[in-house]
Amino acid sequence: MRCSRLLLVTLREDPAEAEIISHKLLLRAGYIRRVSPGIYVYLPLMWRVLQKIMQIVREEMDAAGAQECLLPQLQPASLWQESGRWETYTKGEGIMFTLTDRQQREMGLGPTHEEVITDVARQLIRSYRQLPLNLYQIQTKFRDEIRPRFGLMRGREFIMKDAYSFDADEAGMRQSYEKMYQAYCRILERCGLDYRPVQADSGAIGGSGSQEFMVLAQAGEDEVLYTPDGQYAANVEKAVSLPPEPIPSPFPQAEQKHTPNTPTIESLCSHLNCSPTQVVKNVLYQAILDTGITVLVLASIRGDQDINEVKLTNEITRLVPTLGGQQVLKLVIANQENQNQWAAKPLPWGYIAPDLPDEYIKKDPKIHPHFVRLFDATVAPLRNFVTGANRVDYHWVGANWGQEFPAIETTVDIRKAKAGDRAVHDPQQILQSARGIEVGHIFQLGTKYSAAMGATYTNEHGQEVPLVMGCYGLGVSRLAQAAIEQSHDEHGMIWPPAIAPYLVIISVPNMQDQQQVEVAEMLYQQLQKAGIETLLDDRPERAGVKFKDADLLGIPYRLVPGRSLAENKVEIITRKGHQSQLVPVEEVVAFFEAKRP
Ligand code: ATP
Ligand code: MG
Repeated sequence: MRCSRLLLVTLREDPAEAEIISHKLLLRAGYIRRVSPGIYVYLPLMWRVLQKIMQIVREEMDAAGAQECLLPQLQPASLWQESGRWETYTKGEGIMFTLTDRQQREMGLGPTHEEVITDVARQLIRSYRQLPLNLYQIQTKFRDEIRPRFGLMRGREFIMKDAYSFDADEAGMRQSYEKMYQAYCRILERCGLDYRPVQADSGAIGGSGSQEFMVLAQAGEDEVLYTPDGQYAANVEKAVSLPPEPIPSPFPQAEQKHTPNTPTIESLCSHLNCSPTQVVKNVLYQAILDTGITVLVLASIRGDQDINEVKLTNEITRLVPTLGGQQVLKLVIANQENQNQWAAKPLPWGYIAPDLPDEYIKKDPKIHPHFVRLFDATVAPLRNFVTGANRVDYHWVGANWGQEFPAIETTVDIRKAKAGDRAVHDPQQILQSARGIEVGHIFQLGTKYSAAMGATYTNEHGQEVPLVMGCYGLGVSRLAQAAIEQSHDEHGMIWPPAIAPYLVIISVPNMQDQQQVEVAEMLYQQLQKAGIETLLDDRPERAGVKFKDADLLGIPYRLVPGRSLAENKVEIITRKGHQSQLVPVEEVVAFFEAKRP
């Protein structure tokens, strides 16, 4: 491609709309344009990058035995009602764009395709002989993200590869999952990324096991906790750890103490001169269920620890059937500002005890009349602990379960693991923290969708049983930007060669110099013929401008037919590291053939 013909508009200044470097560079180098928040045009250079990534994805998916198809983006609400996700995706998280057609039927624009693929499977898969099966597509997804940001990282319209596997049993599903895991590793390696697979929460998609593929970068929105021995890595949403040992309590006697102005753990501990590991902290949450019922959840955890709201939501979701619902639509902290929505009388904020009486809850058919009390595993072993006394300015000290407070029947893990904690698999290992960009997420779904939607097959014994599924997402457009976030310098992008829009840019220093132009044209033709993707910067610009643009665009090799032509050589500058070498003109094609990704 000749730069004189390419739609190439580069900017010298950082655009105001961009916060992170990869987003700035994509805008500055003319790869993308914003149309509306989270909605972008992929300009010709970007589209080439995306196609490169899609090609690698296709090759690896095909090699793993998956088959490509294309599913509709416009999906009927009825399918989502069958799986039970219509409410969560529209009213709850509200991530699905919805519309009503002229027959007044509700529709959604696909944020993901479990429902559609399960519908296909229930119509077409009849027998175990058709299994295993894995179908994938590469397509635009729509999600009405609350905060679209960072360019292609969190768009409202973006490109995803999604695959769905169908197996006869759990063991088969695990094999299909393992194949996808390997395929993802190969895809990310081939794309030249530094990545790490981590254990992940399954979220609204559901199912048993799941892993995310994180591209390690400071600007990543996710926190990863891992151990130096390489045995453990998890998204902080999912991570487990051993908490520090509690320090024994200095309060042998149970009594209520006057503790004025101590509504926070910090103020309380400095007033009582005790460790937060002796405190039972009680945090109140308001969960709104799909039935519209509000449930008040009192979560108790050790004072030095924090609640992981993803784990908490999962625990509440487990209890939801006993509360007459199916899902938690929303979870918010209950506080002084919102208490008039659900409280019968003002609460002793900052002094709440684990046994806060149910009489604080307003009598209302839309409000569950009892507190749901959840105890994190850190509070059960505490002796002679400190906690609220349900009275402003008063705390219990020296309290015990089964004495001042009812004995705990069951405990849960709702604690946020953090860097510095000891690892569960080996307490010698200390968790470290890193930031990552989630580019892929794979799930063992089991029969969640097939059972809900009646996607069954006949097994070898003639029985009709649900298909066992897995699903596998990979953010193609996010991956492209993640590559830049990981690979750039002060001059611009540095594309890994395998996904660069072009491998070589021939920057002609002086378009008035006939010899330069002739050699450039000749090499351009030869390289094209050899199948080496080449840009020819034939614009009537100064050499300095062209070199700056070449760096900004991140093309892996810049070829300069300049002064060295006197010795019949050209200069080749590697974008990464800027090393320069002189190569005889007749060896140029061979040089790049050896570099071809
Ligand atoms: P996130 O936690 O970042 O919101 P998710 O868990 O909702 O993502 P999945 O449903 O697992 O995402 O989607 C599969 C992949 O699609 C993700 O791993 C990510 O690479 C990509 N992806 C998800 N949402 C977006 C988005 N808004 N913009 C660009 N890519 C996205
Ligand atoms: Mg995810």
